[in-house]
Amino acid sequence: MTDEFSDDERPPTDPPTITCSQCQQTWTVEYELEELHAGNSALEQFAMDHQRHTGHFPDEVTPFVVDCTQCPATEQYLTRRPAERFAETHARHTGHTVELSGNEKQTTISASDVR
Ligand SMILES: [Zn+2]
Ligand SMILES: [Zn+2]
Repeated sequence: MTDEFSDDERPPTDPPTITCSQCQQTWTVEYELEELHAGNSALEQFAMDHQRHTGHFPDEVTPFVVDCTQCPATEQYLTRRPAERFAETHARHTGHTVELSGNEKQTTISASDVR
């Protein structure tokens, strides 16, 4: 038996990289891992920071998009739960109909769903 491929003592691998074709850049998530201690969510952290500062997500990240059909309100999230919460509270407070799309099917949340 060889333990060359043992999972227990893997040599440290290079941090994952992430690319953005809009910025034409490639990054490692070393900063997220070492400075922010983001651990398993380093890629997620990077994606959220990238969106916050540039207005778009890097490649291979499919956000959940919440888009109001009646006013300019729109938000993007990496996970479904906060996206749903935004859609529901927007509909609840404004009475607007909100569309939520992500990597699953699109859903529509209207005010009558959250009253
Ligand atoms: Zn970018
Ligand atoms: Zn609205």
